[in-house]
Amino acid sequence: MTIRILSQEELSTERGKTSTVGQIPPLLFSAPAHLYRRRAERLSALAVKHPFGDYLRFAATLANAQHHAQHDHPLPEGERQQLAHALAAQQAAATDNLLISPARTNARRAPLAHLPVLGTDLDLRDESNPHRHWQQLLHAIIAELLPQADEPVRSVLENLAKTSAGELDTLASALLEYDFNVVGSDKAPFIWAALGVYRAQCAAALSSLGQAEADYGEARQHCPVCGCVPVCGVVHLGTQAGLRYLHCALCESEWHVVRVKCSNCEQTGKLDYWSLDSEQAAVKAESCGDCGSYIKLLYQEKDPQVEAVADDLASLFLDAQLEEKGLLRSTLNPLVFPAGE
Ligand SMILES: [Zn+2]
Ligand SMILES: [Zn+2]
Repeated sequence: MTIRILSQEELSTERGKTSTVGQIPPLLFSAPAHLYRRRAERLSALAVKHPFGDYLRFAATLANAQHHAQHDHPLPEGERQQLAHALAAQQAAATDNLLISPARTNARRAPLAHLPVLGTDLDLRDESNPHRHWQQLLHAIIAELLPQADEPVRSVLENLAKTSAGELDTLASALLEYDFNVVGSDKAPFIWAALGVYRAQCAAALSSLGQAEADYGEARQHCPVCGCVPVCGVVHLGTQAGLRYLHCALCESEWHVVRVKCSNCEQTGKLDYWSLDSEQAAVKAESCGDCGSYIKLLYQEKDPQVEAVADDLASLFLDAQLEEKGLLRSTLNPLVFPAGE
């Protein structure tokens, strides 16, 4: 944590900016009630005449299963209360990160929390937390997918269904530490799908507890809610028109990051933009010559239907071209994990 003291000159500059910055919501909490269904619809639409159509249709089936799981298994009240306690416990923490203020309008406008509140370990090894809501979500997803699954997906699902709760926790912890070899690319999308629904439900619960209201510093490579890396960036239409938000690969929240700045190393000098079709393409990549990474950006003004995970998945040809140029992807798609050994 650092405290930065501004000079009088900087203060007046900062005040000049505040009128604009203050109107930009720093964070858009996820809304799981709608997002998975919309993703499934988008994936189905993109699958038509797509060379990877079968995989996109499989991804749509998984997104539909996530939609039903979040609907049938809402976040338990006990977990909601734990989130409220986590927020309160962070009340006195540093304030150069995202702040959440009380939702009640008559409450004191003091910072209530210093995110990421959710952390990345999920308290999976906490014996006092035997409920394992995320595993209920996983089993619901497996139960929905199994009757329609062909080999080899069927045997992966059957294998996961028989895996002990403790072993599932171990696999989940490894995934959350980006240790993909332990899990294997066959099981990873299903475990991540359940963890993602769980974290999206937590994020939605947080949004009912408070309201993100403040700037949260410069280091914006990771989700301020759960600490995960993004899938891609989305340049919005509507009330946030023209603003870039990074979309979390886990909890599905979005956070604001200014445009024309590398979201990985924050340099601005060597950015290039790439697309497969034309300059008017709805999916482009922003690469950075300073750190050698790239991130894909989806432009709602070019296509209002773009969806973070779906359009990122459907544009893997762009990834292939960029990787040929020696650029490294700085983001994660929950449906394309690196292959295990
Ligand atoms: Zn997140
Ligand atoms: Zn960079």
